[in-house]
Amino acid sequence: MSSDGFAVHSRDVNQRSFRSVIRSTFIEAHSSKLKATGEFDRLIATPRVHFVYLHHVFEDEKANFRRTLEEIGRTHQFVSYSKAVELVYSGKVDRPYACVSFDDGLKTTLDASLLMDDLGISGCFFVCPAIVGETDREMVRRFAETRLRYPPMDVLSWDDVENMLARGHEIGSHTYSHPNMGDVSVEQAIDELQLSGDAIRRRLGSVKHFAWPSGKWENFSARAGKAVFDLGYASCASAIRGCHMPRAFGVQPRDVCFRRDHIMGSWPLHHNMYFLARSVLQARGNDYEWPNAWQPIVKSERNPAPGESVAPSPGSAIFAPAAS
Ligand SMILES: [Zn+2]
Repeated sequence: MSSDGFAVHSRDVNQRSFRSVIRSTFIEAHSSKLKATGEFDRLIATPRVHFVYLHHVFEDEKANFRRTLEEIGRTHQFVSYSKAVELVYSGKVDRPYACVSFDDGLKTTLDASLLMDDLGISGCFFVCPAIVGETDREMVRRFAETRLRYPPMDVLSWDDVENMLARGHEIGSHTYSHPNMGDVSVEQAIDELQLSGDAIRRRLGSVKHFAWPSGKWENFSARAGKAVFDLGYASCASAIRGCHMPRAFGVQPRDVCFRRDHIMGSWPLHHNMYFLARSVLQARGNDYEWPNAWQPIVKSERNPAPGESVAPSPGSAIFAPAAS
């Protein structure tokens, strides 16, 4: 920790607990079994689109983060977030693809983006405009404690974000202020999506992708999911583990809730790879979908008020397939 309690090292955010030891033992056992039978290599080589995400890459996590990306790159083709989204919507997935994203807009992700430049990988960084560029450490501390629920860390500035964009990375919305979207009213959820989109568009010109905070079903709602698409976002991502398998048919943006596998620079390489293999092992063809009860709401187009224009505002992100 820094002298004022900001996390500067991976151990500052990852306390080794009894639970983490049990989990690690389980991963070792299951991973060894998959490797001994040859199943692991088969799973990793399965055609699909695999999104991984992280929060931070501290100095002491860099080497292992790089090794993890190199290992994934050996068996997968890395693609940009927009390209990965397009592949999933089309269903035409002919090989293993991977895509890296980061949540929360922490300063260490700037270094991560530079490291990824070295490897020729484009990432997507999901930020909360309420905290981007905040230099008051007390404000950052309060935001971390009440919204992120982990120790405070330095955050990206708007210059950092612009710099990442200029180097070929993408910037997505992670709400305006990182609330639990499962707890807020529909009006607040819409505000969070709108304010975040407006702030990013104002500074960067456009925003296409959204990932909700904390990422579990209980941290979101069908109405919030509908609002994401009503407001012109091209994709909506969770932090629910999984990957996206090929399909014989294309789907619409509203049909898909993206799954992402959490990996960490401080986890052993083979643990990170294990999570990818396990997601393939557990994959079913239809697990890109929203929960059954949510589908009629998320998939319903917005009903415009009489006289209201539903044309997207300039710079808003109605999905257009990228050229490459
Ligand atoms: Zn978050």
